[in-house]
Amino acid sequence: MKIEVLEKDETNIRLAIKDADVPLMNALRRIALAEVPSMAIDEVVMIENSSILQDEMIAHRLGLTPLKTDLDGYNLPGECECQSEFGCNLCRVTLTLDAESNEGTRPVYSGELVSENPNISPVSDKVPILKLAKGQKLKLEAYARLGTGKNHAKWQPVSLCAYKYYPKIEVPIKECKECTKCVDICPKKVYTMKENKVEIRDLLACNLCMDCVEACPEKPPVIKVEWEKNAFIMNIESTGVLPPERIIQEATKILDKQLKEFEQQVKVEAK
Ligand SMILES: [Zn+2]
Repeated sequence: MKIEVLEKDETNIRLAIKDADVPLMNALRRIALAEVPSMAIDEVVMIENSSILQDEMIAHRLGLTPLKTDLDGYNLPGECECQSEFGCNLCRVTLTLDAESNEGTRPVYSGELVSENPNISPVSDKVPILKLAKGQKLKLEAYARLGTGKNHAKWQPVSLCAYKYYPKIEVPIKECKECTKCVDICPKKVYTMKENKVEIRDLLACNLCMDCVEACPEKPPVIKVEWEKNAFIMNIESTGVLPPERIIQEATKILDKQLKEFEQQVKVEAK
């Protein structure tokens, strides 16, 4: 298998993967969505809430606030040695919030959460949690734990994880009458006109919609859009909880572990 990084920044990664197949790509996609763990607030103890928002709503909003995750420093609660419902230092992080409005109405943002471990803190300081009117108070203790997207979407480390086939486009220069119809219709601006010839500007932008083939006035269309059977482009967009490359690395580790378990089961059954 050949993997090439096409683009990468703090939250996004775009990979060109060759010599793979659909079942593998789909397994990695599903594991990234549902099985790669991340940190999220899981339990909230309300000490004081005189705002107009109910405790449950506040807890729900806190749960959906993405938290930076340290996968190496913490255990999944089910796999932790403590085996305690409450958790220990290795499977739980405490965050506190103490907010009050002394004059006028003010919003309370995620940045006001104080974590016992600075590495486990909100990805963004600007997630609005609620508004407090004059004299209202909110004081709480929140417990964050590792979890997976298959239990609750708040533990999903990606906002997007998708793949598409690697496009293959041919524009035969001889037969093309340079009508520019394909250039104009393409929603992804894959084509361009250069010296009165249709040229491919950005092959990887093609999403195989086939509008260009339908727009071609020649019968049959001269433009040929196909895809490579064993090559894919994969996009991973992290919510910020983990770097995108770490998410895909973890997904491959989990798949490997599951396959080993499967192999073991088969051996046991065969005995
Ligand atoms: Zn523990």
